Amino acid sequence: MRRETYLSYSNMCRPGSVRREIYLQIFPDTGNRLGLHYNDSRSPDPMKRTLTFFVVVITLVVLLAVARSTQASSTVASVSTDEFPKDLHDFAALDPIDAHVHLFNTDPAFVALLKSLRLHVVNIIVVDDKDGFEPGLPFRLRLGWSVVRVSEGHALMCTSFDPFKFQEPTFAADAIRQMNQDFADGAIAVKIWKNVGMELKNREGRWVMPDDPVFEPIYKNIAAHDKTLIAHLAEPDGCWQPPDTPYLNCKNHPNWYMYGRKDAVSKATILAARDHLLEQNPKLRVVGAHLGSMETDVAEIAKRFDRYPNFAVDTAARVRFLALQPRDKVRAFFLKYQDRILYGTDLDAFPNDMPVDGILKWQQTLLKEWRFFATDETQEFQDRQVKGLKLPEPVLRKLYHDNAVRWIPGSNGQH
Ligand SMILES: [Zn+2]
Repeated sequence: MRRETYLSYSNMCRPGSVRREIYLQIFPDTGNRLGLHYNDSRSPDPMKRTLTFFVVVITLVVLLAVARSTQASSTVASVSTDEFPKDLHDFAALDPIDAHVHLFNTDPAFVALLKSLRLHVVNIIVVDDKDGFEPGLPFRLRLGWSVVRVSEGHALMCTSFDPFKFQEPTFAADAIRQMNQDFADGAIAVKIWKNVGMELKNREGRWVMPDDPVFEPIYKNIAAHDKTLIAHLAEPDGCWQPPDTPYLNCKNHPNWYMYGRKDAVSKATILAARDHLLEQNPKLRVVGAHLGSMETDVAEIAKRFDRYPNFAVDTAARVRFLALQPRDKVRAFFLKYQDRILYGTDLDAFPNDMPVDGILKWQQTLLKEWRFFATDETQEFQDRQVKGLKLPEPVLRKLYHDNAVRWIPGSNGQH
């Protein structure tokens, strides 16, 4: 039996873009098959139709070439042949939770992807004045909620607060009012972001750290509501190192490059403030995003786990850093701290992104990382051939499901 869902959108963001229509095919008999087909547009102009056709063909050729260029994604090219590789069936069988995404595209294709993978996602809001996107919290909340509402229970909300207002007298009260409204609407967590520590300065010109007393009422309020703080504080080491440092460069984060800055704050200072926050708020559950920014050495994470029982980490966008560390050390870390690590990706989709691009990217990432954690297959990370961890099934179950439920209650859609 085959059901076809008809989707249509136009990409307003890209000048000269054409209207496109997509057929999303869902196969309820297997549950997990997904095929995406582009169709020609309804464009009345025959020239436009021809142009559209070639754009679509070229796009598909490029996508297939990209998919084939990496070992991990060779089977994902089957996006056009409507078959999932077996690994994604194994992944879906765990009722996986991705504890860290930024999904701001309401296209039904994403909902279909989540459903077909039995995947729940924690959808995280950040207030960022550097990403070229409308920076205000209300706009971002609206986008986030719009996705949560159409997700049929698969996307859960992680709200935030506007840290740029930290010097206003009503800052904490306003932030608390907003987040309590979001909790009442179903939000399950609150995000604090790296602009605290790396961007905000007070009137005296000093960096504002995450343990600044101005944030304390917010932390207390999150704990009082039994919600979770997701803390992305600091950045990878590369943002404090020379630009040619192999694998650790800050290329993708130029706005956050501290190396060479006269007023640079050290990464150790930010992490010490984060640790102080953990110590000061033992009743607050904190999930350190991106391996708690201790991405180059699992021993550093272990030290915090031993010191702060209220601390866990997610793996978002840092699996490659795990892959570059000694396999035995990383595997032992995952076994010892199997209750403290949440699977997360940092995958995103914005309103004007093409769903087919996004879905391919999501599938590739989920598949590559699943193979790293669940199998001993060799894959390429940063020009190196790396053997997967082949974690035992009970540990995988915690990583992909149980820990998210425990550390971010409600992340499985039941709250
Ligand atoms: Zn993120």
